[in-house]
Amino acid sequence: MEVHEVELVMSAVDPKQYPTTGQPEIALVGRSNVGKSSLTNVLINRNSYARTSSQPGKTQTLNFYHVESQLYFVDVPGYGYAKVSKAEREKWGQMIETYLTSRETLRGVISLVDGRHAPTKDDQQMYTWLSYYDIPVLVVATKMDKIPKAKWNKQLSLVKKTLDMKKSDGLLAFSAQTKAGKEQVWDWIESHAFG
Ligand code: GDP
Repeated sequence: MEVHEVELVMSAVDPKQYPTTGQPEIALVGRSNVGKSSLTNVLINRNSYARTSSQPGKTQTLNFYHVESQLYFVDVPGYGYAKVSKAEREKWGQMIETYLTSRETLRGVISLVDGRHAPTKDDQQMYTWLSYYDIPVLVVATKMDKIPKAKWNKQLSLVKKTLDMKKSDGLLAFSAQTKAGKEQVWDWIESHAFG
């Protein structure tokens, strides 16, 4: 999809404030700093539309980006902040859980992992949890420009194995710097949002 128009609809924790158009939603999840804002900006052809992680822990809301008046990207606040309190973590967990398990318009989740390393415990928990609820997942390995192309397959195999990925879920290598993987991510989004 060639994106020309994006509108950010900020949302609070309260589901009453989620969009009501009934259009499909694709959520993006990942640890803070994994490259979620960068991926979003590449997908929507912007340099700095989505916020970057300069304010750790600050955005504890779901951010809905309305793309081409056709679908929403839902930016889920990054997990794995060491600094947030236990109470905040629990609040975060409840909001995410409610959204991911009961949102009828949710078509799939893009789960970002840092392509340079094996997925973390947090990454594994998130994937296991999404699988349990039968939510279609595309795992995107980010920052792949930082490792040589000859090692990409080995790295992707490690990600697949560590997460114990289902065959029906997708796995892609991505770089916000070179835009490698951009078209494949869009293909997955379109087939799940409109397929
Ligand atoms: P977020 O917290 O998940 O939204 O992460 P950001 O998108 O803000 O990225 C965190 C840091 O990683 C920033 O310094 C980005 O410039 C950098 N980054 C993100 N994606 C890539 C990538 O594909 N390649 C490289 N080399 N750096 C990246």
